[in-house]
Parts: sequence; structure tokens; C-alpha cells
Amino acid sequence: MSVPKRRQTKTRRNKRRSHHHVTPPNLGKCQNCGAAVVSHQACPNCGYYGGRQVLTTKTALDKQAKS
Ligand SMILES: [Zn+2]
Repeated sequence: MSVPKRRQTKTRRNKRRSHHHVTPPNLGKCQNCGAAVVSHQACPNCGYYGGRQVLTTKTALDKQAKS
């Protein structure tokens, strides 16, 4: 196995790692409840997608129980 001849400087190492940041996800607002939602995915809060309920969530069940 080959081994590096010289140790890389802190500058060189840090320059390489300058691209290793995490980008925040693109969040939109839920049309139904206004919570932050990842686009093209059902709302984790109310379970709505495209104007209709597609998931049964805890909040949806609480709402049903109240009405
Ligand atoms: Zn929602």
C-alpha cells in the first residue's frame, strides 16, 4: 500500500474541506396547515399533499377526534 510522502498542511486540508458543508433543504409551506414541508412530499404535520389527505398523522387523528 502506498503511503503519502509528506503530511498535508492545515491550509491544504482545510481548503479541501471547505466544500464539505451541508446545504439546508428547500422548504416550502404546507397549503393546509402552513408548516414547513419538503417540496414534492406530503406534509408530516397534517398529512396533506395536493389538497387532499394522503397520510394519517397524529395531528389528523386529533382533529378527527375533536370534530
Ligand atoms: Zn400540513
